[in-house]
Amino acid sequence: MSDCVFCAIANKEIPSTIVYEDDEVLAFEDLNPQLPVHTLIIPKAHYRNIGDDVPPALLGTLFATVKKVAELKGVIESGYRVIVNTGEDGRQTVHHLHIHVLGGARMPIRMGPAD
Ligand code: AMP
Ligand code: ZN
Repeated sequence: MSDCVFCAIANKEIPSTIVYEDDEVLAFEDLNPQLPVHTLIIPKAHYRNIGDDVPPALLGTLFATVKKVAELKGVIESGYRVIVNTGEDGRQTVHHLHIHVLGGARMPIRMGPAD
C-alpha cells in the first residue's frame, strides 16, 4: 500500500533494524523504544489492524513470531508485554497491523483511567 511506512519497511524502501524475517512477517526495532526491548512484528502484507479480516493462519504466524522475538531479544525468562494498539481509542498511530513486544525492564505503566 502506498503511503504506508510499514509497507515501506517491509519492502526495504526505508531502513529498519531487522530482528527476524521470513516470507510472511518482519520483526524490527521500534524507532522510539519505550523499554530496552521494543520490537515490532508486522505482516509483510498490508492489513490496517487486527480487525481487518486477517487470515487466521497469518494471525497464528504473527503470534508465533512473538516467542521467536522474545528468544532473540533474551527476554523469555524475564518476561515481556505484547501490545496491539487498534484504532482511535487504542491509540494506533501507524495503520498497518503491528505487534509491540516490550521488555528488558519492569513495565513502568499500568492501565489507568482514560484521559
Ligand atoms: P502504534 O501507536 O501502536 O501505532 O505504534 C507505532 C509505533 O511505530 C511507534 O512505537 C513508533 O515509534 C513506531 N515507528 C513509527 N515509524 C517507525 C519506523 N520508521 N521505524 C520503526 N518504528 C517506527
Ligand atoms: Zn502497510
